[in-house]
Amino acid sequence: MTADVIVIGGGPAGYTAALYGARAGLSVLVLEKLTPGGQMGTTDQVDNYPGFPEGVGGFELAMEMKKGAERFGARTKMAEVTEVKLTGETKEVLAGGERLQAKAVILATGAHPRELGLPGEKELRGRGVSYCATCDGMFFRGKTVAVVGGGDTAAADALYLSRLCEKVVLIHRRDALRASAAYRAPLMGLPNLEFLWDSEVAALEFESTLTGLTVRNKKTGKTQTLPCSGVFVAIGQVPDTGLFKGQIALDGAGYVCADESTRTSLPGVFAAGDLRAKPLRQIVTACADGAVAAQQAEAYLTM
Ligand SMILES: Cc1cc2nc3c(=O)[nH]c(=O)nc-3n(C[C@H](O)[C@H](O)[C@H](O)COP(=O)(O)OP(=O)(O)OC[C@H]3O[C@@H](n4cnc5c(N)ncnc54)[C@H](O)[C@@H]3O)c2cc1C
Repeated sequence: MTADVIVIGGGPAGYTAALYGARAGLSVLVLEKLTPGGQMGTTDQVDNYPGFPEGVGGFELAMEMKKGAERFGARTKMAEVTEVKLTGETKEVLAGGERLQAKAVILATGAHPRELGLPGEKELRGRGVSYCATCDGMFFRGKTVAVVGGGDTAAADALYLSRLCEKVVLIHRRDALRASAAYRAPLMGLPNLEFLWDSEVAALEFESTLTGLTVRNKKTGKTQTLPCSGVFVAIGQVPDTGLFKGQIALDGAGYVCADESTRTSLPGVFAAGDLRAKPLRQIVTACADGAVAAQQAEAYLTM
């Protein structure tokens, strides 16, 4: 057996699970394909993780989380998991060509925001293009921003940003929001919110940071320039759960079906963080999941 618990993914969920697991005396191996920290590690400034009144760099926080887990003996192997066998009592994981075994597995591979797929988008991340209003909204205080999307997230983002920004323009490809009434209703009549219906972003305009958007009306084909400092893309998230498909239950959007206990449809397999079906995907909720998953794994192993 390689470890008592293998954690797939070294984001905040994975390293919190590793900390709690190792601190409970379990041998824990974290498998990470890129850089520890996951999405958090790519965030310049995190202002809403408690305990850091001046905020904290996402990468810095990631390194501290990793160190905290290692202090209690958790190990990390930098390798991509390319295959899993989760159904048996002994779980098998293929990582970097090596076959690893554990009695319990914590899935913490996270998710990534769906992108617009436009030139310059990747380079402008953190320079005007954002996928998280709760995270980055305050950087645009008093400015004009756009929100792209028509679902609950886009509506919630527009509402949140309307309290911070001078003006918010909601761009949606249809002529009505898909968002549920509870999310839609508070938007109506907001003095600093404008809708661009039947519209899509055709191009990002930028120098070193975003300066505006080219917006195309899908019905008329006409384009217009919308000057803005920020665009919040809320067209959905893509959970990184392809590896687990067919072995554990996923919901229609591909998120792992697991409740607050983090238990999945398979014994000994737990899901923590953004890959789990849940209402709020943030660092603090990923960490909370990680702690619960480790505790549940420990309980499973000592049954
Ligand atoms: C731009 C941006 C800014 C954000 N800002 C904030 C903020 O200010 N505050 C906040 O609370 N939240 C913020 N968030 C959200 C927050 O980062 C996420 O909710 C959190 O990181 C989720 O943690 P996680 O551990 O579940 O997954 P992730 O952070 O996605 O980590 C998953 C890890 O798993 C690894 N992995 C995936 N597949 C494999 C595989 N096959 N093999 C090995 N490793 C694998 C990935 O490389 C990654 O490191 C932001 C998100 C983004 C995108």
